[in-house]
Parts: sequence; structure tokens; C-alpha cells
Amino acid sequence: MQPGVLPSQQSRATTPTITWRAGFQVISRVSCVKSMRDQFDDATYWWILDRVRATHRVLRFSDVRDGTPPSPFAILRHDVDYSPGAALRMAELEAERGIHGTYFLLLNGIYYNALEPSCAHLPAALSRLGHEVGLHYDVNFLYTFPEERWVELTRLQARVLEHLSGAPVVSIAMHQPALNGRDPLRGRTEYLNAYDERFTVDMRYLSDSARAWRDDAWTLLESGSLPPRLQLGIHPINWGPASRTRRAIFDGIHATKTHDITVAREALNHHIDRHGGVIEHEAALARLTGVTRNA
Ligand SMILES: [Zn+2]
Repeated sequence: MQPGVLPSQQSRATTPTITWRAGFQVISRVSCVKSMRDQFDDATYWWILDRVRATHRVLRFSDVRDGTPPSPFAILRHDVDYSPGAALRMAELEAERGIHGTYFLLLNGIYYNALEPSCAHLPAALSRLGHEVGLHYDVNFLYTFPEERWVELTRLQARVLEHLSGAPVVSIAMHQPALNGRDPLRGRTEYLNAYDERFTVDMRYLSDSARAWRDDAWTLLESGSLPPRLQLGIHPINWGPASRTRRAIFDGIHATKTHDITVAREALNHHIDRHGGVIEHEAALARLTGVTRNA
């Protein structure tokens, strides 16, 4: 396999050249198996989706913009917190199966930057695959501004995503509500909010946040009677060809980021050493002092 290129990317001529070193490629042999299928691997994921699809229509948030459709249905939601590579991989595999969901992208995460060259084409790639691109917003960004600017700044982020994806942003979702508390935008914007009561109270919300199923979520997915209206929240980073521990997943994310920054530092030092201004400056200093510096 070509290093740094996902297998699914090598075979798709229409996919932009995106070469993330995805942390999810790190595979741990350790897993906490509670039952045959309570694992976070591809086989389990497709098994879950096949079970849901057997009775429910799988929809994007934008599909319910104009009202709640007849039951049963499941809104498929993906929060992209860490890895554009993991998101694109899942998006391609879903599209091959005729499945389309809503991918919520951050514009100001510390693990990826939607405007950096390596992932600037992700929003458009997701759109071309038939997925919806929504805004995943970090309230800590909003909190650095006066409250009267929060809606304007949310629209600004949504517009950036619209320009990148080529499609209107219809839906938004708060990043890390468990850590950041109340959603200050609930009911305040023109967008569908994934945490509005319509999507969390009027329907059952099942999520794999922190690579964990809460309450009776797993039992419901595995063998229970699925609720007629469902929001299924899946983080692409949690899933891969083999199940990994939480620690393995996050160690992989950090290893990828550390590697990228190390490569960038070495490239910068290489270019600085050959910069015309630096060479001239050092030569002038050497003439004055008779000492060669920065050798
Ligand atoms: Zn998030």
C-alpha cells in the first residue's frame, strides 16, 4: 500500500489527492469485547447499518428540513473531530452501499484545519459522494466574542463550508457538548440544530461518543426493537478494519499530528538554511566578526 494513502483512495480516480496519515491505521490487538458484536470495527458498523436499513430509511438532516417524514427513519450523523482521513474513508464506503449521512466538520479544531491544502477538498468530496456537509461548531471560539456576535460568526463559518463544499449548509451541531455544557445556539439560528428537541427528545438519539454506547443503546442496536424515529451519531475515528482501544485511537491521532509537525519543522529548517536573505545576513556578520555562525 502506498504510504499515507488510504486503500480506498488509491482506487478512486475521482477522489482528490488527499494523503493524510490517518491515525486509525494504528491497530491494537487489545479490545474489550462485551459480546460478539459490541466492537468498533467495520464488520460491526455495516452490521448495525444493515439492521437499521432493514426497517428504517436512512436520511441526512437536510432531508428533514421541511418537516418530519413518515416513520420509521434514522438520521445518520457523523461528527468529524479528529481525522479527515477517517471521515473520507467512511464516506466512500457508505456511498458505495448507497448510504448517505450528514458529516459535521470543524473549522477550528486543533487536529485538522479545513483550509489546509491536505484537507481543503474534503467538503467537496463529501458532497460529491452524496453526503450532507454541516457545521460542527466549537463554542469556545464563540465565547471569545461578545454574545451578540455569535450568530453572525456561526453564519460566517457556515459560509466558508458552503464555499468549500459547493452546497448550502443546512445543519449545525455543537462540538463536545459533554465538555462544554449548554448549547448557546439551540433555537437561535436559521439552521437545523442536531441538538434541537426535534432531534433529541422527539426521537431517540444513539451515539458512539468516546467509543462507548450509553444506557441501552447497544442492546437496542443489537437485538431490541428500534425506535421508529432515530438519530444515529457515529464518529468515523472510532471505526476501522479492526476494533481498537480508545487509547490506541488517540495515540494514533497524536502520532500522526506529531509526525506532521516534525516533518514541517525539518522542511522549514531546510528552507531557512538556504534562504537568500539568511545567507546574506550571515555572510555580512562573518565579514564583520570573522566568525561563521549558524553553520
Ligand atoms: Zn465533536
